[in-house]
Amino acid sequence: MDRLKWAPARYRFSDPPPHRIRCDSQRNATTLSECDDGEVSTSPITIPTDLLPADGRFGCGPSKVRPEAVAALAEAGSEYLGTSHRQDTVKYMVSRLRNGLAEMFALPDGYEIMLGNGGSTVFWDIATFGLIDRRSQHLTFGEFSSKFAQAAAAAPFLDDPVVIKSDVGTHPQPIVDDAIDTYAFTHNETSTGVSMPLVRPAGSEGKAIVLVDATSAAGGLRFDASQTDVYYFAPQKCLASDGGLWLAAVSPAAIERIEKIGASGRWIPESLSLTTALDNSRKDQTYNTPALATVFLAVQQVEWVNDNGGLHFAASRCDRSAEIMYSWAEASSYASPFVANPDERSHVVATIDFDDSVSADEVNKVLRANGIVDTDSYRKLGRNQIRVAMFPAIDPEDVEALTKCVDYVVENL
Ligand SMILES: *Cc1c(COP(=O)(O)O)cnc(C)c1O
Repeated sequence: MDRLKWAPARYRFSDPPPHRIRCDSQRNATTLSECDDGEVSTSPITIPTDLLPADGRFGCGPSKVRPEAVAALAEAGSEYLGTSHRQDTVKYMVSRLRNGLAEMFALPDGYEIMLGNGGSTVFWDIATFGLIDRRSQHLTFGEFSSKFAQAAAAAPFLDDPVVIKSDVGTHPQPIVDDAIDTYAFTHNETSTGVSMPLVRPAGSEGKAIVLVDATSAAGGLRFDASQTDVYYFAPQKCLASDGGLWLAAVSPAAIERIEKIGASGRWIPESLSLTTALDNSRKDQTYNTPALATVFLAVQQVEWVNDNGGLHFAASRCDRSAEIMYSWAEASSYASPFVANPDERSHVVATIDFDDSVSADEVNKVLRANGIVDTDSYRKLGRNQIRVAMFPAIDPEDVEALTKCVDYVVENL
């Protein structure tokens, strides 16, 4: 069970980490399996080695970090990690991230990349404070898209948002309305595996800005930045880095909005202030200390994508993985794509339903014991399904191997 060096799978991850393991039989034990009285994760099914993917990480975030990026971090570590984020070494890395993203997204003139601490969830609060003028309209079609709507609804200084909801597994359409100053879309709803095309609501130019939660899409799905004003995300998904930062590609109209609200006298906590974030971003800094490793790993991914042809390269890998995943499910006797409309099926997150004869939980357990991890469905969706990330760092060949492993497990359950 320990064939795969990236996935030791020797102790259950719900168990205490090895350094806290205590057992009387072997005082020096470092893993539970060396402990006679420890409970070890055992699986009755061992997937043959030749079926296994080269890398078993299929989680939707945090997600696979390319080993090359980790090696580069280890190599750069002593000059970079543990040094001041106010000095050139780190500022240069932030500038590479900002420039690399601008190139990858082919940003139009006047657009810039901002960043700060807190990830996408904090960005909803930031946007509630600093981007919505009076009334927003939210398309909600899953867990993530509904959370921003809740943040806006709770703000005492805003009018009630308009929330347009559709059933999980689909996405709604915006309704153009002159009373709306901010439209909130989600490029890829990670909880359901639905993606939506990004098109500015007709006639809203100059009146409203378009905010897009692109957390699981940025760097993996194609889009036209000119159709968006704030395309925000965090780097633990398609950017194959770690969490904790938010990043945003912002348009001149968004910057105008930030400056207008910033000057309006609205109370905004400093750590959530976009005018402060804008000042700092333009100096390749953040208001408070960022995770330097996260910035570094994100740079590795963005430059890897750009060196190989840019967003088209990354999105093409995702297209290939999606084709493998969905055609496997469609041909399967027990699996089927959860999202009915092929056009709405995400190319970065696949959700695959199983029929009643197969328990996805059981399959996921066996996969995990064999080093294939985080294929569990989104917990609140509550379906008998697997959810598989197909982010650019994940090899399409590994996605193919995963389908074979699932078939093997189902045949042997
Ligand atoms: C993961 C995710 C988030 C939350 O990101 P955090 O960085 O954990 O706050 C928000 N929106 C979408 C679409 C996501 O996939």
